[in-house]
Amino acid sequence: TRARECLFCDRGNLEKVGHVVLVLSGKGGVGKSTITTELALALLHAGKKVGVLDVDLCGPSIPRMLGVSNREVHQCDAGWVPVCVGRLSLMSIAFLLDDPDDAIVWRGPKKTALIGQFVSDVAWGELDVLLVDTPPGTSDEHLAVLENLKKHRVDGAAVSTGDVRREITFCKKTGVKILGIVENMSGFVCPHCTECTSIFSKGGGEELAKLTGSKFLGSVPLDPLLSASVEEGRDFLQAFPESATYSSIR
Ligand code: ADP
Repeated sequence: TRARECLFCDRGNLEKVGHVVLVLSGKGGVGKSTITTELALALLHAGKKVGVLDVDLCGPSIPRMLGVSNREVHQCDAGWVPVCVGRLSLMSIAFLLDDPDDAIVWRGPKKTALIGQFVSDVAWGELDVLLVDTPPGTSDEHLAVLENLKKHRVDGAAVSTGDVRREITFCKKTGVKILGIVENMSGFVCPHCTECTSIFSKGGGEELAKLTGSKFLGSVPLDPLLSASVEEGRDFLQAFPESATYSSIR
């Protein structure tokens, strides 16, 4: 039965969502969730209404990175009610786990069914952008996300430190428009003099963008302040606005 005072029942699921952006990476640990988090914060600072859907079922870290891991989600007639903080709405498997360190050890069909629910049955309401943090690689989870977003236009953004060639092929094969490539951890910012030193080979993201006919969106260096911010769920852009200027992401 419908709870009379539920504010979410009439919000709709994806009907009022403007853009859907997938964040993809070839490997785990390359900063996909960090980039998703910073994108969400940057969009919020720009005055947008932002949704984040965390479908990285085996490593859901977005609630922690956005500082809301202690929140709970519940269901209403419209489906799952996301965690809402101001203009930010967030849905993650992490909210359904008793212990945040629990691991999901499920086979494909069960994962696919949950992702179906997460994509189609969340009461998102009006959003300018919905960011989807996906698991590494291109697997069942990615196909499940796309299948459930069929009626919606999806744009893809690829994150790179290693190789995202497969992700680019995946987007091309599934008809997802590629917004571009972000090169993460592309150098080290010295905390003393703030100079950026290249550690890994530089320019790989730009080269890959040229090679695959994608846009290079910019690079983010390895920055201990960024790492500490996301690990503690603090707003990096607000805490260190001067550090944020190194990011050339447009
Ligand atoms: P993924 O989602 O690809 O598994 P995460 O976003 O969880 O990767 O990042 C993995 C680790 O790397 C985290 O501890 C995060 O704080 C750190 N990290 C990511 N990007 C940067 C960066 N540009 N500078 C410093 N640390 C980073």
